[in-house]
Amino acid sequence: MKTQRSRKEFKRAQRVIPGGVNSPVRAFGSVDQTPRFIARAKGARLWDVDGNEYIDYVGSWGPMILGHADPGVLRALRAAAARGTSFGAPTELETELAELVCKRVPSVERVRMVSSGTEATMSALRLARAATGRARVLKFEGCYHGHADALLVGAGSGVATLGIPGSPGVPAAFTELTLQAPYNDLGAVREAFSRWPGEIACVIVEPIAGNMGMVLPQPGFLGGLRELCDCHGALLILDEVMTGFRVARGGAQSLYDVTPDLTTFGKVVGGGLPAAAYGGRAELMTQMAPEGPVYQAGTLSGNPLAMAAGCETLRRLARSGSYERLGQLTERLSGGLAEAAAEVGVPLSTAHAGGMFGFFFHPGPVDCFADAQKSDTEAFKTFFAAMLDQGIYLAPSPFEAAFVSLAHRPADVEDTLEAARRALRKVARGRAKSR
Ligand SMILES: *Cc1c(COP(=O)(O)O)cnc(C)c1O
Repeated sequence: MKTQRSRKEFKRAQRVIPGGVNSPVRAFGSVDQTPRFIARAKGARLWDVDGNEYIDYVGSWGPMILGHADPGVLRALRAAAARGTSFGAPTELETELAELVCKRVPSVERVRMVSSGTEATMSALRLARAATGRARVLKFEGCYHGHADALLVGAGSGVATLGIPGSPGVPAAFTELTLQAPYNDLGAVREAFSRWPGEIACVIVEPIAGNMGMVLPQPGFLGGLRELCDCHGALLILDEVMTGFRVARGGAQSLYDVTPDLTTFGKVVGGGLPAAAYGGRAELMTQMAPEGPVYQAGTLSGNPLAMAAGCETLRRLARSGSYERLGQLTERLSGGLAEAAAEVGVPLSTAHAGGMFGFFFHPGPVDCFADAQKSDTEAFKTFFAAMLDQGIYLAPSPFEAAFVSLAHRPADVEDTLEAARRALRKVARGRAKSR
């Protein structure tokens, strides 16, 4: 596969952009590859600047659930852009998207739009602290909630990939109030509550973890968190930036029947433009300025282009059969991968929900970050390279989830599985050699 032009562009970018990228995982650092510079995308496909074509399972890390350059989204964007791109004053589109969110997710009675998932979780944390008058927050190892100082502790995603324990530049004093527990470990949460009675404002969790690779909540985990929070007067924040409108119409909270106090959204809610949101019970959300005293603002919040893309995306997802189709494609992929790995004797543990799936080169079960870290990252590297070479674009890290869109066809999935069988044979040969 020709990569000359991507390599040249990467060098050029590195001279003016740190690491040549505007978000770390894009650099392909953990897979020893050159990042592909993308020229254009359509439906389930990407084309790089060298003219290579890929079936895309990154989907801009989640937002592109309708596929790329979707005609309906483009139409909505053109119409909105023609009327002006930002006013810093309220628009009808903002209310429309807020209504769609509240209707889909009953635990959300009021919702505030922001521009990134990072802002959404940061603001939800501020509100939880204000509402409870408490300072400590509890998160889970391997969960990523954006890069706000207080949450950049034991974070997954790029942080896990790069092995940065938190990050320099985050003073210890800023994370002192952030407690951590292993994912799926209710005992550790119970212990934290008894160690810090009356001090924990909230528990924040990815209801399905997708930033340490994909890890499902064990039965009873989310319900147990709900009970512990109620018992100790803390709020439960579900970070559905990845799972919201991705795993089900009502997000992971509808799948697992758990009612959070606050929810954060991002990715799909912006339909590929920069939008995110946080919301919850009216009694909590009305504590935000200007109705209440808790401050949070944004020059481009509720941007009309982003709102237009978000509205079109949520409306289209509401059409009957959308999530069934996403679910079927994802299940076939996930099941096909597991079968193909079993055929060549490569230990692989897979997970899927709605339009999201993940796999670890590990016999499983993978229930927490420590388990995820035991996966065979060399096998992943071999697999990733072989897939990329065959035109299958996966996230360039073993600690990320993969995403299917409504633009993926059953034939794309079969082509992907065919490529995966070849890639897995390569992995099997590599493992045999290294033994
Ligand atoms: C992507 C993500 C974020 C951060 O969102 P950004 O828009 O990248 O700031 C937060 N939480 C979760 C669960 C995410 O997957």
